[in-house]
Amino acid sequence: MASTDPFDTLPRRPANLAPPAPEYPWPEGYSSAMFLSFDVDAESVWTAKDPAHFDRLVTMSYGGYEARVGTPRILEMLARLELKATFFITGWTLDAHPAMCEAILKAGHEIGHHGYHHLMPDPGSDRLIEEVDDGFEALKRRLGVVPKGYRAPSGEFCETLRKMLTERGIVYTSSFRDDVRPYRHLLEGGQPGPIELPPTASYDDWMLGLSARFSPRPIFPAEHVMSIWKDELDETRDWGAMVTTVLHPQCSGRPMRLRLLRDFLTYAQSCKDVWIATGEEIAANFRRHEAKG
Ligand SMILES: [Zn+2]
Repeated sequence: MASTDPFDTLPRRPANLAPPAPEYPWPEGYSSAMFLSFDVDAESVWTAKDPAHFDRLVTMSYGGYEARVGTPRILEMLARLELKATFFITGWTLDAHPAMCEAILKAGHEIGHHGYHHLMPDPGSDRLIEEVDDGFEALKRRLGVVPKGYRAPSGEFCETLRKMLTERGIVYTSSFRDDVRPYRHLLEGGQPGPIELPPTASYDDWMLGLSARFSPRPIFPAEHVMSIWKDELDETRDWGAMVTTVLHPQCSGRPMRLRLLRDFLTYAQSCKDVWIATGEEIAANFRRHEAKG
């Protein structure tokens, strides 16, 4: 009788076949990089867990903070520091808060794809294709944007998604945790996929600074987080590598969190060797060097 144990058929190979990242140089004058990026989920991060949350108004209000206060404050801070970032926005957020999203675009930031309902792209999910295509459609309809970058909602991926994004012209993704430099994905058949700009888990503000009824966790003081963020950046500079932030305006747009982020970005700017850039810019740097062979 054939075995039904899934471990018997588990492939004995790495899950990601792409080789380690090439050590392409950063632009003139820089020896490391920071991909400054935000995930704009608004209420969709909560309804993705359970659509019934929509009627739990206080739970929804965590997401609502993003449009009312968090994002405008972050845009103001970035303008003051003269920084440009990438904002990955869910389609639902675009439909629910068009003015907030238009303000992000108008301020000159890059807009990326972050799904429609913020549903985790689980292999076998029957909403996988719809979630991606509805996200593209909302970006086009609301902002006239054809995104170059994609970050997976809840940071999960599957081969069907990787293939689908390649076919739809996505230039880079930012979800995998397996490197500290950009690299080129290889699809299962060996064909090239998008460029990966790996996120840095220690720069996920949600893990360190947001606690709610349906997402309970300890939150950490500024000194604690600043020491993590500085240590990660300083060692990355020594490696000549990159960090990628995963910041959420519903967390980092809160007063003490905003002060912390502003202080950290000011520190990063004082390190003259760190190139603080959008995903589009970092992916373009990779492509330039890749084309040279
Ligand atoms: Zn998200």
